[in-house]
Amino acid sequence: MQCSKCRRPAIIYQRYSGLHLCESHFNADFEAKAKRAVRNHRWLEPGDRIAVALSGGKDSSALLCFLTSLVGKRRDIDLIGITVDEGIAGYRDPSNAVRIAQSLGVECLTVSFADEFGVTVDEIVQKRGDSLSCSYCGVLRRHCLNRAARSHNVTKLAFGFNLDDEAQSVLMNAFRGDAGRLLRGTRPIPGMVTRIKPFMYIPEREVALYAFMHVTGFEIGKCPYSHNALRADIRNVLNDYSWRHPATKYSLLNLGEDLSRIGEGFAGEVNTCSNCGEPCGDTCRSCQMLDEVKRDTG
Ligand SMILES: [Zn+2]
Ligand SMILES: [Zn+2]
Repeated sequence: MQCSKCRRPAIIYQRYSGLHLCESHFNADFEAKAKRAVRNHRWLEPGDRIAVALSGGKDSSALLCFLTSLVGKRRDIDLIGITVDEGIAGYRDPSNAVRIAQSLGVECLTVSFADEFGVTVDEIVQKRGDSLSCSYCGVLRRHCLNRAARSHNVTKLAFGFNLDDEAQSVLMNAFRGDAGRLLRGTRPIPGMVTRIKPFMYIPEREVALYAFMHVTGFEIGKCPYSHNALRADIRNVLNDYSWRHPATKYSLLNLGEDLSRIGEGFAGEVNTCSNCGEPCGDTCRSCQMLDEVKRDTG
């Protein structure tokens, strides 16, 4: 197949746009989309210190690479990586994320569940089984990242979430009947470092392709506990459906953004956890989870 914009061989076909793209036109299209997301959300400002939540997988590695090319030469914007060691044996060696950051000339901090909470995901699974491990891990990872970012004067925390991740989240909240989450606005919360997602309009397979083209050494392993995640089911349902209806993921993303704008007005109360000092709602989810885990020791 030939590129729809020039005569070189195409490396990808975009079902949603009907375009075949060669390597250089794919790159240009990809980076234009990510830049547009950044510009439209006003995600970069002079004086920013950006931290990429770097797992060492394809999405976050691709994001670090993209942001390095976008702001690496700017003196008024600083870029670092933060990697979280959840303590899952045989999965995600944090030194890999550090190596990827180094290869891009970016400093990378490592924080661990063991240091932060005195417990690893492996230990949590041992005590509580693995049916809830993903929700524990997600809550605790967010807590770790936010705290590390705040203590290093980070102004924006960048996530490699792609269109598929975002669409899955909207559908998942709908399937769970979680109106609160669908309506949660994006207004700044005191103590919460602003989150940015430059790849949120780009399909997962394109982020993967970009990663393969630009980053070496990212990890492709799957978390050994992820078979329990509701997300895996949602992902299958959504991929199956959007194969026949290619615009579905964009529709879900737009729905999510519209609902969050509508919800902007009724932001719930934000408190500060008296135990850990992190911002939270009525109760602190991470302290609650850690309590449950520690109570189970007997
Ligand atoms: Zn081309
Ligand atoms: Zn707490």
